[in-house]
This record gives sequence, C-alpha cells and structure tokens, in this order.
Amino acid sequence: MAFEQHLNEYQWDEVTNRIATAGPREVERALARAGRCDLNDMIALLSPAALPYLPRMVEISSALTTRRFGRTVQLFIPLYLSNECSNVCTYCGFSVTNKIPRITLTEADILDEAMAIKRWGFEHLLLVSGEAPRSVDVEYFERAVKILSPFFSRISLESQPLEQDEYERLFRAGLYGISVYQETYHRETYRLHHPKGKKSNFQWRLATPDRVGLARMHQIGLGVLLGLEEFRTDAFFLAAHLLYLKRRYWKTRYSVACPAQGALDPKVVVTEQNLVQVISAFRLLDESLDISLSTRERKAFRDSAPFLGITSMSGGSRTDPGGYTKNIQSLKQFETSDERAPEIMAASLRARGYEPVFKDWDRWSGEGIHAG
Ligand code: SF4
Repeated sequence: MAFEQHLNEYQWDEVTNRIATAGPREVERALARAGRCDLNDMIALLSPAALPYLPRMVEISSALTTRRFGRTVQLFIPLYLSNECSNVCTYCGFSVTNKIPRITLTEADILDEAMAIKRWGFEHLLLVSGEAPRSVDVEYFERAVKILSPFFSRISLESQPLEQDEYERLFRAGLYGISVYQETYHRETYRLHHPKGKKSNFQWRLATPDRVGLARMHQIGLGVLLGLEEFRTDAFFLAAHLLYLKRRYWKTRYSVACPAQGALDPKVVVTEQNLVQVISAFRLLDESLDISLSTRERKAFRDSAPFLGITSMSGGSRTDPGGYTKNIQSLKQFETSDERAPEIMAASLRARGYEPVFKDWDRWSGEGIHAG
C-alpha cells in the first residue's frame, strides 16, 4: 500500500483532537516504552499533556542518543548549485516570483565551491537546488556528483523530486542519499503555500520517498516546516511516514529534520520548548534515527542540541549558489541564525564533550578486489 492510502487511514482533525486530549497516563505509558514507542505513544509524547514531563523526556532522549551514537555529532555542509526555480513557495527566497539574479553553477564553479568547503575538512556534502528541471536536471546532478565524488565521502541531494530510474542513475554515480521534505501533511495548507509549479502536486511529493527507497538509496531524509500548520499533528504524520518507510525499505537509513524558523508569518508559533518536545519524541520513537538541525536555529539552541537528541548539524552554511567563493548580492533561500565558522562550531562541540564527526562513510570502489 502506497503511503497516500496509508495516510488516508488518519483524519487530520481526529489526530489533532487525540493529541489535544491525551492525558498524563498515556504520557507515562509512552515514557515507559521509550525506544520501542509506536504511533499511539507518539500522540501522547507530542501532546500538551507531555509538557510537564519534558525534563524526563529530554533525559531519556539524551541517554538513548548517547547509547546509540556515543557523544558524537556529524557535521555536513550544504552546497547550493542553483537558485533557479519554477515554483512558488510562500516561505522561500528562491520563489519564481522573486526578482533576484538567477544563478546555476558551472562545472568550474562547482569545483571552486568544493575546494573552499574542503578547507574546513567537510566530507559530508548536501547538494541543494531549486526546482528548474530545464537547466538543473538529472544529467546536471549526475555530472555534479561525479565532479565532487573524488573530494567527498558522502554526497546527498535536496532538489526537485525525480523518477525512480533517475534516482537509480544518481545512486550509480555515487549519490548517498536524498532529502525531500513534505513541508506539511495538511493538504489544504500545502496547497496554500505551494500555489504554483510542480511542487503544488501534493501526491507527487508525498510518493517521492517511496521512489527513493525503491532506488535503494542509502539514506532518505524527511521533514516538515514546523509552523505552516498545527505542528504537533504534522510531527505525528511525519512519524507515520517514517515508520511506513522503515517497514518497506528496511535497509535504508533515515533522518528527520523539523526546522521551526522556516515559515514566514507562521500559522502556529513554534517555540524552542516545542522544538525540544518534537526532537525528544522522535528519539523516544526511534533510537537509531538521525535527527538533524540546520543553521536556522539560534546559536545557543544549537549548542544544547546534541544533548537533546540531535545527531547531525550543518555548519558554516551559505544558502545561495556561489556563496562560499563569490560575493553576489542575491536573496538567500532562508536566513541563517548561526553564522559561526565551522572550526568555531567544532570547538564549541568539543568544549561540551562532543566529538564533531566530519566523516563516517566511505564508498566501496571495488579496487584491489579480484575474482578467482
Ligand atoms: S522551497 Fe524549493 S521549490 Fe520552493 S521556491 Fe524554494 S527552492 Fe523552489
């Protein structure tokens, strides 16, 4: 059963109501099941009734994270390939209606950016682009992955949703993972914030992680933009999507991200306390889940993030194409709050007793192995 059919089993309003009316007994039962929680537990953990239990949730989340990951935080950096985009997303600087210089990096530009990034020691790279399939298509991504593969051990991509055979092609070229955020699982609100372009197709986006899973990519990144809708309900649907994918594509690794500062003029204000609750709830749901935090969040919050359950963070991010080497005055995709240089961020992690990890993956090239 595709996830859309699965999604239809849950009514948005009913889930919202169950979250709003969950009580302390359900929260305590969920806490007792930490690490093997299900969606019923998730309802309790995301509920307002869990707020008095937040210190306990954080304590358990921290212990589970340390048990599974040690005191480590993976660091990655985004490389923006293009700000061309044919969509309108109400919260994004790259929307087609914004009058900004549009830039797509050439092969030489990509190499320049890569060399600038390498100075900081990054091995994990996230390629990002707007959705402009006429100029930034699968061939372009394939070339970018091939250019960058000699310099980085792990390359992931966040771009327009592609077909399964296109993901297979990129996987063969050396791509490690795909990030595709649903933004919100509320269909009407999704339509409101994505009025134009291919991204307005809710179903096409929703089915994308399935196509990535079928292409046997190593990692799938999921996420919602907290604040577009009732964030507790969106976090629940994100958890449902995650559990559905894990059952189907069980060899794949998963990561989630829930940026809280992404929505301009949010329908629901999401506080840092809310974000802590969401992060802890996901850790109690899944001990092995990679939970990621971007540079949107405040520096002080990011400093405490590993203790909460965060296992990977971007650092030193520029969110415009050519941002590491050129000084083009262009709109960024979003504003970053934590502008610290990567070495300062790494030092700050070490000072808190965490090891910044720049590399945890090597592609197997097959070299040196001979048959017979
Ligand atoms: S969020 Fe992505 S698809 Fe939407 S306007 Fe920005 S770059 Fe384009």
